[in-house]
Amino acid sequence: MALSKQVQAYGKPYLKTYKAMFAAIKEFDKIVVFRHIKPDFDAMGTQMGMVQWIKDNFPNKEVHFVGDNHVSFTPRLFPETEELSEEWFKGNNFLAIVVDVGDTSRIADPRFENAKKIIKIDHHPCKAEIAPGLTVCDLDAAAAAEVAVDFLLHCKGTVISKEAARHFYIALVGDSGRFLYSSTSPHTLAIAQALLDAGIDISQIYLAMYEKTIQSLKNQAYVLGHFSVSPHGVAYYTLSKEVQEELHITPELGKENVNLFSNIAGINAWCSITEDPNPKDYCWRISIRSKKKDISGIANKWEGGGHAQASGAKIKDLTELDAFIADLDALFVEE
Ligand code: AMP
Repeated sequence: MALSKQVQAYGKPYLKTYKAMFAAIKEFDKIVVFRHIKPDFDAMGTQMGMVQWIKDNFPNKEVHFVGDNHVSFTPRLFPETEELSEEWFKGNNFLAIVVDVGDTSRIADPRFENAKKIIKIDHHPCKAEIAPGLTVCDLDAAAAAEVAVDFLLHCKGTVISKEAARHFYIALVGDSGRFLYSSTSPHTLAIAQALLDAGIDISQIYLAMYEKTIQSLKNQAYVLGHFSVSPHGVAYYTLSKEVQEELHITPELGKENVNLFSNIAGINAWCSITEDPNPKDYCWRISIRSKKKDISGIANKWEGGGHAQASGAKIKDLTELDAFIADLDALFVEE
């Protein structure tokens, strides 16, 4: 299939890397695809899309995927993660493909380090490169899936099946906020077009991604009844462990309703602040979203990181909440 104008132009600076990445995939009989901890649509969709693409185009290769499960996406949208034994990783004769994660500490399974070769496909800033020469990372891409599919479209003689396209489309839609965020570009839509060309059923996909339960409606009602707004338009809500129990949610689902505040006049940024009682890393996890301004600097300052309009951070307990909100609020003094 001929490449669209956007895909041709986008891939140009990466052609050498794409070639080396494709050669690495062909070279190895054993491949494991890794994603980030606390996976989202993009992490899981890009991971499973890559796994499916390898299965479709190289049926004789052994391909696996690892990482923690998601409380509601698995097994509803994506298969349960695989448990690979220590034995399997011995010998190190495998290729690791790491998707949607920049920093090694956020890769969901540290055994990517055992790989003979590593490929990285991402759209996050990172502190140290794990796959020199075999990395494609575009900070402006709406999703890691946008970068991954561009690469795959350049792999001559291969196909993107309907099943692989479904995974990638979930990833693309998830991280671009259904093409609402400013990271959506003509190239993002060209990738969406290529995935639609594979014959996916988008209404079925949206139903599976966004179907709500009656309990989740009650949770929205709780959030709408308990949020605060700072002087310069930062909306936020907190979910303590006790409230999570009352709402029947786990810390992973605390951010589920954050985008209720996404299109409200006078609200410039919005956050969910969720107690994570995990004794190994007790903290309150913050998901930050912003209408226009880049909030990633504030996220970096508060033990996190991410993108201009969507980042994650942490505070150690609620005594830090006012200082965190004041930092974010200060971004919008001129608004
Ligand atoms: P979340 O609010 O968890 O959906 O995260 C929004 C974005 O910020 C995602 O792209 C995450 O990968 C990224 N992110 C969240 N937490 C962190 C962190 N601690 N360090 C770096 N990036 C993060």
